[in-house]
Amino acid sequence: MKKIILITGASRGIGRDIAKTLSKDSNNMVIANYNKSEKEAIELKENLKNEGIDIDIIKADVSKRNEAKEMVQEVLNKYGKIDVLINNAGISQYKLFNDITDEEWDNIINTNLKSAFMVTQEAVRNMINNKEGCIINISSIWGVAGASMEVAYSTSKAGLIGLTKSLAKELGPSNIRVNAIAPGIINTGMNNRFSEDELQSIKDEIPLEKIGNTADITKCVKWLIEDSYTTGQVISINGGWDI
Ligand code: NAP
Repeated sequence: MKKIILITGASRGIGRDIAKTLSKDSNNMVIANYNKSEKEAIELKENLKNEGIDIDIIKADVSKRNEAKEMVQEVLNKYGKIDVLINNAGISQYKLFNDITDEEWDNIINTNLKSAFMVTQEAVRNMINNKEGCIINISSIWGVAGASMEVAYSTSKAGLIGLTKSLAKELGPSNIRVNAIAPGIINTGMNNRFSEDELQSIKDEIPLEKIGNTADITKCVKWLIEDSYTTGQVISINGGWDI
């Protein structure tokens, strides 16, 4: 029986790479969620189809309960279970704390943190019934360390770590593992705002002297799915930026 893997925010960046790589294993069936980037999501599906690989794409704004619920229900109706949930969808904002509006705060918290609460809540009933599951939350180095000019983002990512640890304790007896990955800086559209000079000065702060690739995160996701004795952990993948 195939492993059913739902990934939120998989039209671009890290989520897209995870979807692409995991779908190449014929034991997996990947369902890639997207919201605004429909063209990219269709292209992902078509490209994989040309290689003889089948994935599902599913549109939902995961910051909204009704859409998160319908998405999970659609997956359960079609496949009957969810083995792996990867809460990856996220947005960032670079702004002085005093300039953040209530709307911006809510948008970041709802997209990055409440989405994981809602999608997990919808999916976890099925995992509990199956006495098996793996949940991976994509946090950030800033959820651990806190970032100046990214207070809302850092708060949402710190919240994901709290969600990870507490849920790991609550769901451990149901054989559901919950872990977080805290990437440093990864080469995706999220970092388009940085100039070459700014990227260079970031690299200068990183012991491995380079920006990470999406594949660096995907490798860890793959390992966490295969593993059976790791839960409640935050795995930092950042080139040593935090040491
Ligand atoms: P990205 O390239 O900007 O991609 C973000 C993805 O999230 C897109 O597929 C986007 O889908 C999706 N998304 C955003 N809002 C959504 C919503 N309301 N509903 C459903 N999907 C939504 O960013 P990325 O770098 O891959 O980031 C992926 C995750 O890694 C994020 O949680 C981010 O915070 C985290 N992270 C990234 C870095 C980094 O340096 N890149 C570092 C640490 C942590 P649509 O375009 O279809 O809306």
